Amino acid sequence: MAKRNILRFGDETLRKVCRPVTEITPQILTLLDDLAETMHKAEGVGLAAPQVGVLRRVAVIETEPGQLIELINPKIIAYSGEQEGVEACLSVPGRQGMVTRPMNVTVQAMNRRGETVEITGHELLARCFCHEIDHLDGVLYIDRVKR
Ligand code: ZN
Repeated sequence: MAKRNILRFGDETLRKVCRPVTEITPQILTLLDDLAETMHKAEGVGLAAPQVGVLRRVAVIETEPGQLIELINPKIIAYSGEQEGVEACLSVPGRQGMVTRPMNVTVQAMNRRGETVEITGHELLARCFCHEIDHLDGVLYIDRVKR
């Protein structure tokens, strides 16, 4: 595993739409490992591949210590409710803003074994699902800040 550099707001790469993963290659597994290590070192709760300069639909989330969630080609298949809360991003250091997100979000994704999984998150995890999947489409939370 290796720590990678996190791109900062202003880098064009963060605004690109990422390509889906078509095959779980050793490179994808290494990417997952590196994303987790980089997220842990930066003390974040989520990190998406474009944030380390890789334009693939891959992200990791860890809102509960030790409960790493790895997402390949994630998509939101259901959501409900609403929450307003403070959001921040490792690519936009030193800033935060209020963003409205769904309270409950169900994501379908592939895991590292290539199996399709569905995960439902509430509150912070629901917010992270939205935030990280936004990254895969070149969207940053600051685009959604109301104030
Ligand atoms: Zn972010």
